[in-house]
Amino acid sequence: MTREIIIETTEHILFRQSARDSLAWCPRCGCQTRLLSLEEAASLMGVEPAVVDRWVRQGKLHLEASDHGFLKVCANSLSLMRARENEPEE
Ligand SMILES: [Zn+2]
Repeated sequence: MTREIIIETTEHILFRQSARDSLAWCPRCGCQTRLLSLEEAASLMGVEPAVVDRWVRQGKLHLEASDHGFLKVCANSLSLMRARENEPEE
């Protein structure tokens, strides 16, 4: 399966300004999760949005389409990744 990811930074910023918290079902987590824009996820992790985009491509983060058709980052996958990063590496 190929999935095309198009990032429109301006649209994401506009969306965030008018957005309420959106809850969505993440099939990969199998639970409800909050959806974050790339920018929100990036600022939470203290990185550039491009880094979040790379994590998505690497499969570390889940990307879901919101009601409005925007691709958003699954907040649950973000906290899972954070937890994994805190584990000591071999
Ligand atoms: Zn998820």
